[in-house]
Amino acid sequence: PVPLVLVLGDQLSHDLASLAALPDGSVVALCEVAAEGRYVPHHPQKIAMMLSAMRHFAEELREQGLRVHYSALDDPDNTQALIPEAERLATLYGCDEIRVVRPGEWRLWQAMGERETAPLPWRLIEDDRFYTTPDDFAAWAAGRKSLRLEHFYREQRRRSGLLMEGSSPAGGQWNYDHDNREPLPASPTFPDPPRHGRDATTEAVLALVEEHFGDHFGRLDVYDWPVTRRQARVDLHHFLRHGLPDFGRYQDAISDDAPFLFHSRLSAALNLGLLSPREVCEAVEREYLEGRAPLNSAEGFIRQVLGWREYVRGLYWTRMPDYKRGNALKATRGLPACYWTGDTELRCLQRAIEMTRDHAYAHHIQRLMVTGNFALLCGVAPEALCDWYLAVYVDACEWVELPNTLGMVLHADGGLMGSKPYCASGKYIDRMSDHCRHCRFDPKRVTGEDACPLNSLYWHFLERHADALSGNPRMKLIYGSLSRMGDEKRQAMREQAETFLAGLESTPAWHDDGRG
Ligand code: FAD
Repeated sequence: PVPLVLVLGDQLSHDLASLAALPDGSVVALCEVAAEGRYVPHHPQKIAMMLSAMRHFAEELREQGLRVHYSALDDPDNTQALIPEAERLATLYGCDEIRVVRPGEWRLWQAMGERETAPLPWRLIEDDRFYTTPDDFAAWAAGRKSLRLEHFYREQRRRSGLLMEGSSPAGGQWNYDHDNREPLPASPTFPDPPRHGRDATTEAVLALVEEHFGDHFGRLDVYDWPVTRRQARVDLHHFLRHGLPDFGRYQDAISDDAPFLFHSRLSAALNLGLLSPREVCEAVEREYLEGRAPLNSAEGFIRQVLGWREYVRGLYWTRMPDYKRGNALKATRGLPACYWTGDTELRCLQRAIEMTRDHAYAHHIQRLMVTGNFALLCGVAPEALCDWYLAVYVDACEWVELPNTLGMVLHADGGLMGSKPYCASGKYIDRMSDHCRHCRFDPKRVTGEDACPLNSLYWHFLERHADALSGNPRMKLIYGSLSRMGDEKRQAMREQAETFLAGLESTPAWHDDGRG
């Protein structure tokens, strides 16, 4: 049969399984459709990166001699939804079937899978760009009483041979996390990310995005994400030379003015397929082996990509669709309005939101311990928070966003992603960042006018969820401290938190027909 090969916006890899051994007459289709751009209000930089990268990729395929159809967003014939558009094109070119590699969302996988027996059948192909397939993950998980990243990660190290010396981990330990928790030095200097030129394709996309999606949250004028594999390789090399050596020790640090610190900024290029996780991990391993990067940095980075990234993907595909409905802590609050405006007196929260608005980026600890922790402590509903995370980050795809937000941040999966919630008080922010110096609140005070709201919210959260959490061995110590507090102090904290929560303005949920 002659196929129409549909290449999705996060499948921009020349070694994509569906592009191998194409029969004569095959048509490769890439489709920009409004439905995917709007089902949450994606950050304009996120949309621009994907569209420009798709257009460049289509051009590269044409240069290789493939027959390519590109449905641009403003083509008059464009049906503006993925499945109808692919079917329209297959009919137009007289193709007998539609081939597609597993998409990044269960919603699409499900809808495409339902058409495998249609008169114009869809053929779903496994994505082999990861270290593990969902089947590999299911096999690993089968029969285990509890799932833990650490066990999965060790197995991944053994299977891949990364940072292994025979059957032992390089340096004798699997994990160097204890070396990777330094706060920032007094006057840090961070590498400036490389700047990418904008060619005519990117300029045209930026104009298009401004016209169609200019009303979405986020700046577009400072756009500077890679849109080709070549640009993504420049970012990778820059990271290896200038970021990786200090990546480990400052992995958890937060800065009031620097958004990227020593982070790689590679997630979006990885997720769109411009870089492969294998080439990135192998390049990082090489830096260690050749003495240019310390082991704690190389191991810390490889743990994120070979461990966490694969782990969340495995969880996503083996637990959906129920996973998305998880709400173990029964949180119901709408998203606080400041997530869209940055209008809050909590300096840490304000800066994380402003950086997100400006760069479509915040690093992991900001996502987890600032915007994430605040939402957890306030009891924001998983759906409201997940829609925000899916919308605002340049690297956001549901398979990776959802387990991180619903599971790791909100503990809404009941402990699959983390054995305890990552809840923290103002003390944590004060230790790991320089925000508190610029903040009107005092991280050392729990009650009173100047007290950091995170402190009373933290104890209030623990109190509210004592039934669910106090039996957790990893939380024993903290519940011990709570129980030793006098009634009066507890009552004052409760009132402080409740007053704060009562004054917190929420936004209505982003309702649409595609989600949930
Ligand atoms: P670095 O700090 O340089 O890390 C290197 C790489 O490791 C990243 O590029 C990424 O590919 C991988 N990685 C690190 N942590 C994780 C993780 N927890 N899960 C999966 N991969 C990881 N990452 C996304 O790619 N897309 C998302 O939509 C996304 N949503 C998130 C939502 C929340 C609430 C949280 C807490 C984390 C989320 N992450 C997401 C994970 C992580 O925060 C980002 O991958 C990282 O901040 C991207 O920046 P970087 O490339 O500079 O990362």
